[in-house]
Amino acid sequence: MTQIRVRFAPSPTGFVHVGSLRTALFNYLFARHHQGQFILRIEDTDQERYVEGAVDNLLQALDWVGIDYDEGPNKDGPFGPYFQSLRVDIYKKHVQQLLNSEKAYPCFCSAERLENMRQEQLARGEDPKYDGHCRNIASTQARQRMTNESHVIRMKIPDAQPVEVDDLVRGSVVFQSAVLDDQILLKSDGFPTYHLANVVDDHLMEISHVIRGEEWLPSTPKHVLLYEAFGWQKPQFAHLPLLLNADRSKLSKRQGDVAVEDYQKRGILPQALLNFVALLGWNKGDDQEIFTMEELIRYFSLERINKSGAVFDIQKLLWMNGQYIRNLMEDDYLEQALSWLKLHNLDSGNDEKNKTIVLAVRNHLNQFSDIKEASHVFFEQELQYTGDARQWIKGEEGMKILTLLKESIQNQDELSTDNFKKVMREVQTQAGIKGKELWMPVRAAITGDTAGPELAIVLNVIGKERVLKFINQALNQ
Ligand code: GLU
Repeated sequence: MTQIRVRFAPSPTGFVHVGSLRTALFNYLFARHHQGQFILRIEDTDQERYVEGAVDNLLQALDWVGIDYDEGPNKDGPFGPYFQSLRVDIYKKHVQQLLNSEKAYPCFCSAERLENMRQEQLARGEDPKYDGHCRNIASTQARQRMTNESHVIRMKIPDAQPVEVDDLVRGSVVFQSAVLDDQILLKSDGFPTYHLANVVDDHLMEISHVIRGEEWLPSTPKHVLLYEAFGWQKPQFAHLPLLLNADRSKLSKRQGDVAVEDYQKRGILPQALLNFVALLGWNKGDDQEIFTMEELIRYFSLERINKSGAVFDIQKLLWMNGQYIRNLMEDDYLEQALSWLKLHNLDSGNDEKNKTIVLAVRNHLNQFSDIKEASHVFFEQELQYTGDARQWIKGEEGMKILTLLKESIQNQDELSTDNFKKVMREVQTQAGIKGKELWMPVRAAITGDTAGPELAIVLNVIGKERVLKFINQALNQ
């Protein structure tokens, strides 16, 4: 087998989309599985779409999830530079080659002419497409006009001949070249379009497999024709299924977070996000869902990529992240959870208590940003009761329990986990009530809610004084 070389080729146009992360991950897994090379190439020749800081964002996102590349920005290799904006001369040289062999031609049409043409085609109900106006200008004349007239270079798409894309995921996909446009290869500012730069670089960088999102499939016949025009061998193509919202519409920002940094801000662990993203269109062939990176590398194969769209189920991601949070080593968990507590300006004033708090809520977190909500009972000075909590407090039995509880707690020097058990046994005997009927009014009165962290821990952290204050508050409702 030839050396496996794959690339992730993002355009730095803003935040890093989870779909891009999936493309990066699948390329990475494929390369590592085959002991190949994984290249990061920045496709930054579209000056209009360029966003300042986007490359840094991208490098940070890859670093955060632990995807490293073998060649790319700051890691020069034999095929650099890896920023397309630094390779413009290379593209120009290659375009010249196509001009010489008459596989491309200069087009002098004005923006106005092109717009009129477009409008007329639309009015006739046709798909807009360049009409070939400049296709047959004699080459001596064209060469002369090129010296002083603004122009683009277009590809001469061969007439009506089917173009086959042999895709490792989708099989053979046939496009009619009649529907393909005489694609612009070089813009009037001398910068290449995506198609030209992408194909030239994939060839020069000796890319063996092009693994990218399905939205690029319609571009692929143009690329195939370009490889043929240059007389180059094509790489193999694998197009990854679209990412969908739960309602099976195309994944969009309107329906929720789509940027990697959004998930970072929610306190999703990078390993969990990668694990989740790995399953967007791929599976191992059984029902295993939790994978280490080593396992993903071991099991990944292009054969197991699905054709049909992959639903981005945020609930599944949250569930998965919850699993990862619970599986962290305790020290690691403490470090991260404590920093999230701090981020929300939550502090009991005592380091040991802060640790107790974050350990008590660990099972309630699906993402670290949940920590504020999950730990609020430890920090409230005034309680708000939920409707359910109110129900448990207001009945006769609830009042009886709380009155007894108050007396018993007043008799304790302090509240520890141990003597709280003793207190509750006393209340149980005196009230003649046990189980849920006993515990719910107590939880409701002290936390304002009917679910939450272990009560004994809550009492121990918030202390006798505040507990009595809350019981009084409940009794006076
Ligand atoms: N620059 C394209 C992008 O932004 C690359 C597509 C491809 O992988 O060919 O996704």
